[in-house]
Amino acid sequence: MAIRNIVKKGDEVLRKKCRPVTKFDDRLFQLLDDMKDTLVKADGCGLAAPQVGVLRRIVIIDVGDGPIELINPEIVKMSGRQREVEGCLSCPNEWGYVKRPMKVTVRALNRNGDTVEYQGKELFARAVCHELDHLDGRLFVDIADEMVDPSEMEDRK
Ligand code: ZN
Repeated sequence: MAIRNIVKKGDEVLRKKCRPVTKFDDRLFQLLDDMKDTLVKADGCGLAAPQVGVLRRIVIIDVGDGPIELINPEIVKMSGRQREVEGCLSCPNEWGYVKRPMKVTVRALNRNGDTVEYQGKELFARAVCHELDHLDGRLFVDIADEMVDPSEMEDRK
């Protein structure tokens, strides 16, 4: 088990476009395991590889049903709309309203290189969109239409 350091806003690694994973080797497995441990420790619902300084198209999502690993993920279907408050492990103490699809289907590879597909709505859909944005150097603060005062967030916890 290894906890990796979470990169914070201002570091330019968060602004770069990530490359696809091409090698499914021990190094990838180690990274995936470390990302899962890091996400659990940070108590978030998603983590993207650039947040631990790795410019590869990998995200971990955990919205309460256990972690799922998405390698080279793509959203293949989306529908509906929602607008909810988001935060980010790389943007401590910042929250804001972001518009996202209500429902998404994401296709990716698992660590064995097999194609997998997951469908979900609400928090799952938000988490997937938020984490996939990280792979293209985008942060929620870029697209939030209204920021929320941190003191107001106390009531939501
Ligand atoms: Zn984030």
